[in-house]
Amino acid sequence: MWAFLLAMYKATDYHYLYDTARWKRLRLNHLQLNPLCVYCLEADRITEATICDHIEPHKGDEYKFFNGKLQSLCKAHHDKDKKREEMGLLRQPYIGLDGWPIDLNGSKQTEK
Ligand SMILES: [Zn+2]
Repeated sequence: MWAFLLAMYKATDYHYLYDTARWKRLRLNHLQLNPLCVYCLEADRITEATICDHIEPHKGDEYKFFNGKLQSLCKAHHDKDKKREEMGLLRQPYIGLDGWPIDLNGSKQTEK
């Protein structure tokens, strides 16, 4: 029983990866090269990105963590829209200057 719980704990406890010098260097480098939130850019907004986000969830996989594709996000987008996407939900649309929602989810929304 304890071995099982320990294995479960180890499988989900990957936050140490964020403390590694390798990740800190990778994150800083990515944000320096890509300083703007990509989701904001899609909606014609300019926002400084503070989060270096893994496009594909790595779930503790060290290879994916250090080699997976990254994107720059602002905190608001990371905390709200990225989590919605990971739950299989669509991003909430922005309302453009013309009063119409900006389609951020490609054709998925119009097929409904
Ligand atoms: Zn943003």
